[in-house]
Amino acid sequence: MATTHKTRMLIIGSGPAGLSAAIYGARAGMEPIVVQGLQPGGQLTITTDVENYPGFRDVIQGPWLMQEMQAQAEHVGTRMMWDTILDVTMDGSPFRATGDSGDIYEGDVLVIATGAQAKWLGVAGEQEFSGKGVSACATCDGFFYRGKKVVVIGGGNTAVEEALYLTNHSPDVTLIHRRDSLRAERILQERLFAHPNVKVLWNQKVDSFVGEVGKGLTGVKLVDTVTGAESVVDTDGAFVAIGHAPATELFKDKLELDDGGYIVVEPGTPKTAIPGVFACGDVMDQIYRQAVTAAGTGCMAALDAERFLAEMEFKASQAVPA
Ligand code: NDP
Repeated sequence: MATTHKTRMLIIGSGPAGLSAAIYGARAGMEPIVVQGLQPGGQLTITTDVENYPGFRDVIQGPWLMQEMQAQAEHVGTRMMWDTILDVTMDGSPFRATGDSGDIYEGDVLVIATGAQAKWLGVAGEQEFSGKGVSACATCDGFFYRGKKVVVIGGGNTAVEEALYLTNHSPDVTLIHRRDSLRAERILQERLFAHPNVKVLWNQKVDSFVGEVGKGLTGVKLVDTVTGAESVVDTDGAFVAIGHAPATELFKDKLELDDGGYIVVEPGTPKTAIPGVFACGDVMDQIYRQAVTAAGTGCMAALDAERFLAEMEFKASQAVPA
């Protein structure tokens, strides 16, 4: 039978943003509920080595980090729910969300931490070599390719920034783009073209990632979009940088989204246009997209949620009975 779960703080999403909001929210006495979604733990659960999350001198595993974050959130009083939200009403506090299970979740404040997913090419070998040569995050994985050959696929700001970032580690970076011009900002393009360690392959579509199972990626098979000629570029690492898709389908007609589909917040805060609704992590950040920045904005959402509730409860206590 469907149940209604009530809380002062309802959090949708269980990546670093949602769980950090939960840790702060629980410690502030808001007894949060986290509805975990389709990928409990978020993007880090599909990552292997993590070397840039502060506090750990040795390499740690993404899934382990998320298990620890969840355990910490539960330890301080968070209730975790195995459910996926299918609908939300946000007319005013309390906010109501309906789960796939049929259960209703009601929160005096709502924290949206549904994250974003890297877009993938969907070609042969991509999944097979994911984490073993194929990555969607140079900031996360570039360090593992020190002194090695790498390629970046894409032509937008992310691809160019990732290619430039990779020059910190690699003497041989190749950008592969499907057209003959980039869509990245001119200043980034100028930096890219001027860099002695970067070359660009134009009009090249990725056909497949090639390598040996157990040994890892060895190259990328390309098809020239003009001539149809096939070639293989040898590489140790391939970074797919063709954009991200924020998980905002649920909020499309309810909150303002930017051109990329990300939730618009008041600059420098996690506040949406609806009082009591906060957004944190990758769902509102298309620039930084790091676990640590997501955790930071999750903390901000909890602090602002706590202030919102305190104000709401103070006003209610001052209201003169009719
Ligand atoms: P974009 O959508 O801007 O670019 C995606 C790139 O990937 C395009 O060049 C596109 O090619 C290519 N692409 C898409 N699908 C495929 C495919 N199937 N095969 C091959 N290539 C493909 O995404 P970004 O992540 O670069 O940027 C997203 C937004 O975030 C932008 O608004 C960007 O400006 C912003 N951003 C800003 C940053 C900053 O200010 N520092 C940093 C990073 C992002 P084509 O050009 O042919 O369409």
